[in-house]
Amino acid sequence: MASHMRAEFKQEVAQLAARGVQPGLGVILVGEDPASRSYVTAKERACEKAGIYSDDNRLPVDTSQEDLLELIQKMNQDSKIHGVLVQLPLPNHVDESAALLAIDPIKDVDGFHPWTVGNMVIGEQTFLPCTPHGIVKLLEKNDVETSGAHVVVVGRSKIVGVPVANMMLQKKQSANATVTICHTGTKDMASFTRQADILIVAAGRMNTITADMVKEGVVVIDVGVNRIKDDSKKLGFRLVGDVDFENVKEKASLITPVPGGVGPMTITMLLFNTIESAKRKLVEG
Ligand code: NAP
Repeated sequence: MASHMRAEFKQEVAQLAARGVQPGLGVILVGEDPASRSYVTAKERACEKAGIYSDDNRLPVDTSQEDLLELIQKMNQDSKIHGVLVQLPLPNHVDESAALLAIDPIKDVDGFHPWTVGNMVIGEQTFLPCTPHGIVKLLEKNDVETSGAHVVVVGRSKIVGVPVANMMLQKKQSANATVTICHTGTKDMASFTRQADILIVAAGRMNTITADMVKEGVVVIDVGVNRIKDDSKKLGFRLVGDVDFENVKEKASLITPVPGGVGPMTITMLLFNTIESAKRKLVEG
């Protein structure tokens, strides 16, 4: 699905470029976190393949907050850039909220600015955050009925759990679900996950969901990405999700793998938002 969508984007980007607007993404990574570096590299490669201009900025871990905010301001004003992405998490000495607030909401393609989040919650047209939006697209394109379904979300982070729960709750197409959110304070989590028609898991802990915790026919979206040691791999590790895939797949009607499931869709929706932003620019001049 992700590669099909990206092939369509490539054509769309070429058409926009022919009309004088080449979509552009400004990317900022602070520090050397290996997972963040690999995400940023994947995003930059995806942009390149789609014909999207990307302005890549890899800053040292001791970059000051002032310098970071200055770079964000520069990107806000740069007419070649239609989306600004600050890779999270940021080092501890940098105020993450201040960095997100500094991004001009019209370029907030990650969808984390409070203005964007507010619009998403009240169902107004806005940039939708990439991972939750990718999940909604996966359900939609696989004809999973969400209206009236019981969607159980495990995790309440700002970037996955809370926004995906909000999006599934909207009185809209590809939503209109009854939503339950579980977290570490939930008592007897299995009693909720067993009721799920659609189970979205974003806990960041392998084997959070085992086969005894789901019902027959459930649709499972595994967002988790966990590195486990594996000496047979070149890098010395492999990636697994939060769900015990091998056993849960025997009961599930549909299940996303890790790697190769939600991850590619996240990047695809980032490209989507960047192109949408460039299109607005074309309309508004
Ligand atoms: P996060 O900020 O660490 O949040 C994890 C959430 O899960 C928290 O709300 C936590 O509850 C809850 N949780 C953790 N263990 C739990 C358990 N045993 N039972 C119930 N709830 C539990 O993580 P995140 O940023 O949402 O990311 C979650 C996972 O998705 C990570 O593995 C991350 O790498 C992955 N991810 C993947 C993509 C992608 O594109 N594939 C994108 C984003 C994230 P409390 O609030 O009570 O602590």
